[in-house]
Amino acid sequence: MAHSYSDVSFWLDSIDGIREPDVPELPAETDTAIIGAGLTGMWTAYYLKQKDPGLDITVFEAEIVGYGASGRNGGWCMGEAYGLNTYLANASTREAGMRLYREMFNTVDEVGRVSQGEGIDCHYAKGGQLTVAQLPFHAEQIKQGVAYKHSLGFTENEYRWLEPEEAGERISTAGKHGAAFARHCAAIQPARLVRGLAEVLRAKGVKILERTPATKLASRVVTTARGSVRARRVLRATEGYTASIAGLKRNIMPLYSMVTATEPLPEDAWAEIGLAEREVFGDPRRLVIYGQRTLDNRFVLGGRANYYFGSRRRPTIPPTDANVERVAKIARDLFPVLKDFQTTHGWGGLMGVPRHWRPCVTYDSTSGMGWAGGYVGEGVAATNLAGRILSDLVLDRETELVRLPWVNDEARRWEIEPLRWIGSRGVRWIGYQADAEEARTEKPSVFWGPVFDKLSG
Ligand SMILES: Cc1cc2nc3c(=O)[nH]c(=O)nc-3n(C[C@H](O)[C@H](O)[C@H](O)COP(=O)(O)OP(=O)(O)OC[C@H]3O[C@@H](n4cnc5c(N)ncnc54)[C@H](O)[C@@H]3O)c2cc1C
Repeated sequence: MAHSYSDVSFWLDSIDGIREPDVPELPAETDTAIIGAGLTGMWTAYYLKQKDPGLDITVFEAEIVGYGASGRNGGWCMGEAYGLNTYLANASTREAGMRLYREMFNTVDEVGRVSQGEGIDCHYAKGGQLTVAQLPFHAEQIKQGVAYKHSLGFTENEYRWLEPEEAGERISTAGKHGAAFARHCAAIQPARLVRGLAEVLRAKGVKILERTPATKLASRVVTTARGSVRARRVLRATEGYTASIAGLKRNIMPLYSMVTATEPLPEDAWAEIGLAEREVFGDPRRLVIYGQRTLDNRFVLGGRANYYFGSRRRPTIPPTDANVERVAKIARDLFPVLKDFQTTHGWGGLMGVPRHWRPCVTYDSTSGMGWAGGYVGEGVAATNLAGRILSDLVLDRETELVRLPWVNDEARRWEIEPLRWIGSRGVRWIGYQADAEEARTEKPSVFWGPVFDKLSG
């Protein structure tokens, strides 16, 4: 029987006929076990199968394919990744950081190529990304960012400052102070991508065991509530849910981000908003927002982060949650025309934050254990690159990808409670103070702003 996922996300809700999965038989053994059927798990399986078609792969998924962040995110398939700037800021890692940057640009096209080639209709539109100057001083700040990118060798075609008139034609809120345009970004329907990949993998013989949480992982064995499976390799792709596995509570901090979607808007409303090419958009505020126009003309906006004591995970976040409602209010404040239309969906999802705030891909051929993740809130495209890297590491291929700086870049563990809770709530509070002060004074926050930047990495 078809099951409703309207409380999980608009993206999953809008896919017809997702059935309650059968509880599958556990195999006694498998060659490669992948834990988690989000984009990391699916891309890793995809490239492993592509490079070694005979490989026996079993994916263990606690809920259903795409139940995690991959089926709930803002749908920005972006040619950047969290923490990339830290490699560029340091002379000794700059060259490697630039290779990573270029590879992230390629990744946006790779996602488009594979989805098209495999017949996955994920509503991919490479319309680029707008960073809107909402306040007068943002314009200077954003222009400096574009100039910095050019000084590193990026071209005007890749990053461009748009004066208010030109910017306003793309998105009305930029008509006052301008915006930056980044070419390498696509808007997608993320649940269609992750579930489409799962279909492709099943057709290639990959076993995907839904409703089968792993409780413990060790070298050559995956333990579930229904028994154990022997595996030559065990690859973890559990991101914000990592704390659910024995012994891994402090590895990745689960942080919630909230999203809202409206009913489909008529053309005259879109004429007031813009985004004719399905550009995605955000602005420089610290408690980030991310928006897109869906293929069926809904306005989707996400933002804000929330952490619950003890890395607690809530399966779903209701649309009435105060943080979800705040995101809906930001949408209406930015575009008053939205007040005339219904917000049909509101949800939350878990991002995974490592202590050093940047992704990691790692594999130990002796134990056969590896993992990829730690994308913070920027993993839609990064999961593809991580999957390509992890598959090369697993198959012991000496490629350019395994020399990228994410490889073995493991962070130390997070602090114990209540420090974790105090720290994350504190950083959020500081970010809020800085944003509120800047909105009020229209000047950069000289105290809270730098404190936030320092603490959030
Ligand atoms: C609200 C929100 C908005 C975002 N917006 C964007 C965006 O616009 N652009 C962008 O680039 N990034 C965005 N991100 C981040 C991006 O979605 C993630 O980085 C990416 O989807 C991570 O994919 P993943 O496969 O590693 O993790 P997930 O998709 O979270 O998958 C992990 C899977 O593991 C399963 N699992 C967990 N524990 C177990 C277990 N013990 N046993 C078996 N299975 C288990 C879960 O059920 C889940 O399906 C957003 C994230 C959120 C939450």
